[in-house]
Amino acid sequence: MRAMALCRVCGSTLGEPAYQAAAPALTSIMTALNSDTVVHVCERCSHAQCPNMPDIQTFYDTTYRISLEADDHDQLFALAADGRPLYRTDHQAAISLRMLELPPGALILDYGAAKSDTLRKLVEHRPDIIPHVFDVSRDYVFAWQDWVRAEHQATYTIDPSWHGRFDAVMSHFAIEHVAEPIAFLAQIRAVLKPGGRLLISLPDVHANPGDMIVVDHLNHFTDPSIRHALKATGFTVNEINRADFPGAFFVSATAREGNLAGPEDGVAAATAQNREICRFWKKAYASLTQTRDRMAGQRCTIYGAGFYGSWIAQQLSGAMDVVAFLDQNPKLHESQHMGIPVRHPAELDETVDTIFIGLNPLKARAIMASVSFPTHRDLNLVWLD
Ligand SMILES: [Zn+2]
Repeated sequence: MRAMALCRVCGSTLGEPAYQAAAPALTSIMTALNSDTVVHVCERCSHAQCPNMPDIQTFYDTTYRISLEADDHDQLFALAADGRPLYRTDHQAAISLRMLELPPGALILDYGAAKSDTLRKLVEHRPDIIPHVFDVSRDYVFAWQDWVRAEHQATYTIDPSWHGRFDAVMSHFAIEHVAEPIAFLAQIRAVLKPGGRLLISLPDVHANPGDMIVVDHLNHFTDPSIRHALKATGFTVNEINRADFPGAFFVSATAREGNLAGPEDGVAAATAQNREICRFWKKAYASLTQTRDRMAGQRCTIYGAGFYGSWIAQQLSGAMDVVAFLDQNPKLHESQHMGIPVRHPAELDETVDTIFIGLNPLKARAIMASVSFPTHRDLNLVWLD
């Protein structure tokens, strides 16, 4: 494999990969991709990145259909105190409303909108604002028709007549996918009025280390690397919020004249943390494949049908008999994931003693401490760390 030349944020030459694993890789929509997983960490700005995917345009135009299957499909964000599920777009809309500080009648663009559920919910709270949407696919047009005027919709490219037009742009969980994040932010800057507000959300790999090996997340931003990218494209950073949406950054910035990119504080610490996460995955892979080979042919379940659980299932495939995923999300029950049924934890199969824990390792022990299984048998819990 040809080594990747340059950091996508600061342009520095990159050295050897910090992590490398053989195909298949796992995508953010939990499908397998016949590609190695490779992570580079930049020493100068602390950005971590995966190589470009083959045929990236086709992947987003026709393959990447997140949340398209069912109208009410939404990712579980958390469980409320009363056990009621909270869904992610509601939460994104609430944070966006607060951080954008929209003036009355604001023209707002959802950039990389997909179905744009977040903006739709935002408009429900603020009927005065004028919604616009842009995406690199036409798959989502049907979801916009009822509430975004046709002339306020853009697909594939943005017409120059939109330059300097918007009071606000928001972009949720899009920049991690793009091969040219600087060009992406520069395009957003171009459509904003001077003084216009940007809100961008993206994964925080330090809070959710699984993000490092999501193969279609070409970018794994750190606090210093997102600051660097925003300053380089004509923004002043107002707030980097890591508290309101666990596992993600919500960043607000203001469009201004000129660029001021330079070294940010905290690069050395963020770089070290990226390298530590890469070491974690190396160890996790070695330990999981060892356990798998020792227990070959046995029955097991996997706790968690999200990214971590799917990654485990991918490694166990063909060697162990995975009878079910266990997951708290009621919307996943009675469905199959990767050809495996998904059940509530209370429905743990009586014949299974081994549970692989497919959860964020930073939270896994706390979560599992609150789960009760319908048995007093000794269970063999296998952790990623
Ligand atoms: Zn860099």
